[in-house]
Amino acid sequence: MRKQIAAANWKMNLTYQQGEQLLQEILDAKIHLKEDQRAVFAVPAPYLTMAGQKLAGSKNYFASAQNCYNKKSGAYTGETAAEMLKSIGIEFCVVGHSERREYFNESNQMLFEKMQLCLENEIAPIFCCGEPLSIREAGTQNSYVETQLKESLFDFNEAQLQKIVIAYEPIWAIGTGKTASTEQAQEMHAHIRAVLAKQYGNTVAENISILYGGSVKANNAKELFSCLDVDGGLVGGASLVAKDFITIIQSLK
Ligand code: PEP
Repeated sequence: MRKQIAAANWKMNLTYQQGEQLLQEILDAKIHLKEDQRAVFAVPAPYLTMAGQKLAGSKNYFASAQNCYNKKSGAYTGETAAEMLKSIGIEFCVVGHSERREYFNESNQMLFEKMQLCLENEIAPIFCCGEPLSIREAGTQNSYVETQLKESLFDFNEAQLQKIVIAYEPIWAIGTGKTASTEQAQEMHAHIRAVLAKQYGNTVAENISILYGGSVKANNAKELFSCLDVDGGLVGGASLVAKDFITIIQSLK
């Protein structure tokens, strides 16, 4: 049975103290997660140890990195290796967020390399894909996303692929307050699953969690998560407000 995941992406927001307080408020809500549910917090790198320790006592709550580098180790000042994340007990890492693709020129090949290193270090990548507005307007979003999947994922074998979480994030919906409709989300998620099924078979595709990201809020999470192929969300803005993210976690199927 695939996992239902509410993943927070704090991006470059909050001080250490604010982050600690936000996590505490969410934990204080004592939301009991079912066996197949997860709450994941992608926090800024300097807060990973704190977040990992704070969440450690709560079943199915995890800290996540927002990024890692595509090299094992070496003279790459300022970068973080997957092995370093593993050494502090981190089990998730966001890979290929559209902001990284856009501002840091991350290519599909580079993202493949990052995920390879994550998997070697027993870290589950949360792989982001999704089209810009121009592609959506041209109606070619399906082939655009298919290329992202093929170029970053298809060199993994079945066992590796099953450890990856996919986040479909239409770029035009990220931080814009413009959410994809449930029809648009479901249609793309079904397409992603079909692309995976063609390459890896139905059983593998059925077991992959596909999250939706793009202006998920407390008031639309339930509807989006109720779609057949939507297995939770990757949430930016609304994950910075304790009561909103609590509602989003409670909206998981
Ligand atoms: C994101 O950061 O991945 C995201 C989807 O942001 P927001 O929820 O603010 O649109």
